Amino acid sequence: MSKTKYIFVTGGVTSSLGKGIISSSIAKLLVARGFSVTIQKLDPYINIDPGTLNPYEHGECFVTEDGAETDLDLGHYERFSNVPTSQANNVTTGVVYQSVITKERQGEYLGETVQVIPHITDEIKYRIKLLANRGDYDFIITEIGGTVGDIESLPFIEAVRQLRWELGRNCVVVHLTLVPYLAAAGELKTKPTQHSVKTLLESGVQPDIIVCRTEKHLTEGLRNKIALFCNVSTSSVIECIDAESIYDVPILMRKENLDLEILRKTKMPVEQEPDLADWEKFLHALKNPSGEVVIGLVGKYVELKDAYKSINESFIHAGTVNGVKVRVQTFHSEFLDESNVAGKLGALHGILVAPGFGERGIEGKITAIRFAREKKIPFFGICLGMQCAVIEYGRNMLGLTGAHSTEFNKLTPYPVIDMMEMQKKISGLGGTMRLGAYPCKLKKESQVFLIYQQENITERHRHRFEFNNEFLEKYKSAGMIPVGLNEKDNLVEIIELVGHPWFIGVQFHPEYKSTVARPHPLFVSFVGAAKQYAGNS
Ligand code: GLN
Repeated sequence: MSKTKYIFVTGGVTSSLGKGIISSSIAKLLVARGFSVTIQKLDPYINIDPGTLNPYEHGECFVTEDGAETDLDLGHYERFSNVPTSQANNVTTGVVYQSVITKERQGEYLGETVQVIPHITDEIKYRIKLLANRGDYDFIITEIGGTVGDIESLPFIEAVRQLRWELGRNCVVVHLTLVPYLAAAGELKTKPTQHSVKTLLESGVQPDIIVCRTEKHLTEGLRNKIALFCNVSTSSVIECIDAESIYDVPILMRKENLDLEILRKTKMPVEQEPDLADWEKFLHALKNPSGEVVIGLVGKYVELKDAYKSINESFIHAGTVNGVKVRVQTFHSEFLDESNVAGKLGALHGILVAPGFGERGIEGKITAIRFAREKKIPFFGICLGMQCAVIEYGRNMLGLTGAHSTEFNKLTPYPVIDMMEMQKKISGLGGTMRLGAYPCKLKKESQVFLIYQQENITERHRHRFEFNNEFLEKYKSAGMIPVGLNEKDNLVEIIELVGHPWFIGVQFHPEYKSTVARPHPLFVSFVGAAKQYAGNS
């Protein structure tokens, strides 16, 4: 058996307890001790990936370097651990079944009856272990999506049961549960935790460590009780109290010795203390800002907490570098127009127009961009946000009346944004966009070159449409300059506006690459510009 240790994170009682944050915190602590770690999410739904899910269903879709459209928890993994994830780090029931059925059609099972056990569970185990072959990892953390007891996650839990048996000491199961506080009784209650461990036991899995999400501190008595009823030692009952910020959780878990418990159980060296100095510095900056900037986020999913997750987190990272708190105020683009734009956006220190798909709310985005351009408010357009900036400039500065993207108007007289050639032949949805990291070359005499301090960058993409090069000269001579290009495919990746303090549109998604250890330079610079604007306004 390989030396790689496997950590499984399951959840009980309710969803949304923060398995992703616990998994990410474990990763952070282990990385801070010098171990190599990767995290994987197993999602029990039948979609192949969340790429085709709308944000109402599943929040943001996170894109990896290698172009996988994945669960937003992978964003947390990267932001906490600073280790990039890949296609192999997110596995859904859909992927597992698709693979098994394809093999069956190709005759690989030699006439056997193909069943959930062992064929589906073997495929799940294969995909968990696959990561070990990809890199020389000390730990693979696998988060099982859903809540124990869900019908759809049963094959995943069964795979964990089998792997525990195979891996022995090389494996540890961390179970996250809720210990609710009943105000009427004035007590924390352990029964839901007992029941959820019992449910796990019915599937043959005994958790090694129980992490208790709670709003009040666990007493020693309560820890003993959970230990007694759930067959773990008291030191393996970990309190996870509600925190002010998700970024507090690694520190809280350190104080509770979650990392030590894992190391002891997997017989790994414990001598080296985790180096959390930079993390503490980041937290200190986060909690002691010397001012505030207010950024308007204009999009069409603004009522959804998780729809722009990575953008919000990037602002947190960038705020700490600038010593300010970034207050992100959201604006539904559908309700923005010429009559109300000044009233709604007038007091902002910066405006970000969000990525997106579909026509709803487009005109509101264009209105917001015109306002930011004319009032010289720092403006940042991401993907669709950049495309809208191009449309706005075409219509209002180049006299291209009716200019549009062919995504929204196929018959526009001025298709300033058009479908990429390589996209025209594609018919199916799901993994068919221009996805993942592509190189981009920056013009030396540009603001973005000063921001990145390098000429060649790579950024992650998720789009079908692009700047139409037929209009390039017109835009250039009118002051909207393409300053970042993908030379191989001749695509405009970044535009900048001459004579505006900070007006940048990017065809890619910088938010996917911002981490606590490496806040994204574009976000850092944008927040810096907003801070300056706030100082002058
Ligand atoms: N809908 C646009 C496109 O496909 C923008 C996509 C995005 O913002 N991610 O090109």
